[in-house]
Amino acid sequence: MGWGEFITLFKKNDGSIERFEKDFANLFGAKAAVAFPYGRSAQWAYFKALGIVDGEIVMPAYTCSVVAHAVSLSGNKPRFVDVLADTFNMDLEQLPSKINKETKAIIATHTYGYPQDIDRLTEIVKLEEQKYGTKILIMQDCCHAFSAKWADRPVSKSGDVAVYAFNISKTMTSIFGGMLTFNDLNVANKVKIWRDKNFKKPTVFKSIKRRLYLLMVFIAFSKHFYFITWWMQHKSKILNKLTKAYHRDNMISFPPDFAQGMTNVEAAIGLVQLKKYPKMLAKRTAKAIKHSKSLANNGWKLPPITEGATYSHFTVLIENRSEVISEYASMGIELGEVIQYNIPDLPAYVAIGDDCPSARKIATQATNFPVT
Ligand SMILES: *Cc1c(COP(=O)(O)O)cnc(C)c1O
Repeated sequence: MGWGEFITLFKKNDGSIERFEKDFANLFGAKAAVAFPYGRSAQWAYFKALGIVDGEIVMPAYTCSVVAHAVSLSGNKPRFVDVLADTFNMDLEQLPSKINKETKAIIATHTYGYPQDIDRLTEIVKLEEQKYGTKILIMQDCCHAFSAKWADRPVSKSGDVAVYAFNISKTMTSIFGGMLTFNDLNVANKVKIWRDKNFKKPTVFKSIKRRLYLLMVFIAFSKHFYFITWWMQHKSKILNKLTKAYHRDNMISFPPDFAQGMTNVEAAIGLVQLKKYPKMLAKRTAKAIKHSKSLANNGWKLPPITEGATYSHFTVLIENRSEVISEYASMGIELGEVIQYNIPDLPAYVAIGDDCPSARKIATQATNFPVT
């Protein structure tokens, strides 16, 4: 993040949400986009707006836990498909076994930026629809894969809706925030009308809080203010509180402001970031290619370099993960553990009984190397 975003904090930013929606739809080739306060709110609102309730929604076992929360809180039951260690994506061979006459939607996540095989997915869904005489919606979860392509075509162009998220850890940020994009204007309008009727206007307090949060992030990630960061982390735990409070893995819960609209300041930051997207993607891709060369001889399982991938993360599977993380830490390199759980094993979802051994194993080994 740079001065463009910083200056935005002190501006009025009226009308930014509509502009962000328009520019976002344009950049990613959609007919329309509708903004939300979080990615999870966008997913939740889509099902609510279309009256999808009391059904089953199929999703990968290895993804952000908030997706399962969004499904549950919309009044539907999540069903989990195991994932492949090669791409981190749903194993499509296993997908049909999780579909039945109650299935109302499939969330196809392009995890860590790797495109799911859209052609095969569409074929499977068509066959299952014929078998049960039902309609099964496809939501592309592009939170890691804004511009990902399968067979040269943006994944967001297939299916019924695509979802994106902009929290501070994502490829591009609007502080917090989420977006849905549509290829059908009628559906986009329906969802927009539902949002405007059911989401509260963001309060001035929320807008001030968001500005303060971003100011802290600027300070925290700036080398010049290193001592302040150290103080925030070690003495006050403020940063920890800010980054952890909104994310709960063990409980089906959403942040209190999940149905309070995106703020103008967030949309204005999103607009500045949107302009940088192509550059950010190129940088991530270059980093991923570099890692795949330099890490090739460690005996670890490296992620693929794939046409159309967006490399939101570079996730290596390492058996002795904690040792390697400490080793790198002693060299001053911070490795991350982004998703360290298999959702069907979390207390809130274990009763559903979807056993996903591959996701379980990946969760214990996934180690993220920096791509920014
Ligand atoms: C981050 C993320 C979401 C939800 O985003 P929030 O804005 O945190 O609610 C959904 N799906 C995936 C794959 C994500 O990584």
